[in-house]
Amino acid sequence: MGIQGRQPSPAVDRAARAATRRAFRDGEREPNGEAVVVRDLVKRYGERVAVDGLSFAIQHKEIFALLGPNGAGKTTTIEILEGYRKADGGEVRVLGLDPQRDGAELRTRIGVMLQSGGIYPTVTPIEFLDLLSHFYEDSEDPRELIHLVGLDDVARVRYRQLSGGQQRRLALAAALVGKPELLFLDEPTTGMDPQARRLTWSLISSLRERGITVLLTTHFMEEAERLADRVAIIDNGRLVALASPRELTQAETDEVQFTAPAGLDLVALRALPCALDARETQPGQYVIRTKRPADLLAELTAWARDAGVLLQTIRVGHESLEEVFLRLTGHELRE
Ligand code: ATP
Repeated sequence: MGIQGRQPSPAVDRAARAATRRAFRDGEREPNGEAVVVRDLVKRYGERVAVDGLSFAIQHKEIFALLGPNGAGKTTTIEILEGYRKADGGEVRVLGLDPQRDGAELRTRIGVMLQSGGIYPTVTPIEFLDLLSHFYEDSEDPRELIHLVGLDDVARVRYRQLSGGQQRRLALAAALVGKPELLFLDEPTTGMDPQARRLTWSLISSLRERGITVLLTTHFMEEAERLADRVAIIDNGRLVALASPRELTQAETDEVQFTAPAGLDLVALRALPCALDARETQPGQYVIRTKRPADLLAELTAWARDAGVLLQTIRVGHESLEEVFLRLTGHELRE
């Protein structure tokens, strides 16, 4: 699929629109088994266009990531899907419902993990989940949830004394209390240390077995890469790519990475017939993109021999999602 170029690719846009078009025919409730359908979504804040014609669809039981830098429009999109914000244009369906019109019904079927705050500082995790469970006719057992998110040891510790990671995990447990069919996770691991992040990742993966559809937003590439079945990369409120992490990183180009003395002649490396470009990512570390890695290796080693350069640790691999993002949008994910 066409995922190259800095402008939103027409091919990406066409594919996303085709997938969503049928969903609005005949007012079907859950057309084609899609849990979420977004078509031509627009949201403005005054002059600022936060979401600019976004289209995508999420299948039931899929873990779907909205990935983009700060201000890309992820939270705005998710809040429109949750029914907390009104769109200025386009259409959305969530579990077959219109979040504005059918908000009351929708809220009993979705789980929302808030970015932060919203929990009373002196409440304990077990008290909080107990309280929440009374709002639902059919709820998860708070003790089981505490165990699921790994908070057994702090079940009776006041919220304000929990670490940032523990607070986030409590927010995740809270989102699960009402046995949601669809879970919204807005930056679920922001503020967590690496260990808590890994724990949360395995927890989110395990939701797959419960048959829960998950929409998560993140600006951590690794998070999207590890968790998501498919990733929508958005930038400036527009879709720039939509595919599985594997498809995104294996599309079209490979990379030859190698270490050698710092300061090699990049002009000469770029001139190798099979090189698309060449970069020194850190002193002595080089990356050359290519569509023909075997041929490039031959060219590179021949060049090194002639130039008297000793190449070390040569590796052929795919672009990382981080590099794909950089190539598609022209800027880093975290700025
Ligand atoms: P982050 O990763 O920082 O949470 P995001 O991708 O979720 O970013 P949004 O929060 O949806 O992005 O914001 C998209 C754009 O809309 C940004 O430029 C932001 O400044 C602007 N914006 C968001 N909320 C409002 C608001 N209530 N009023 C005015 N502008 C807003």
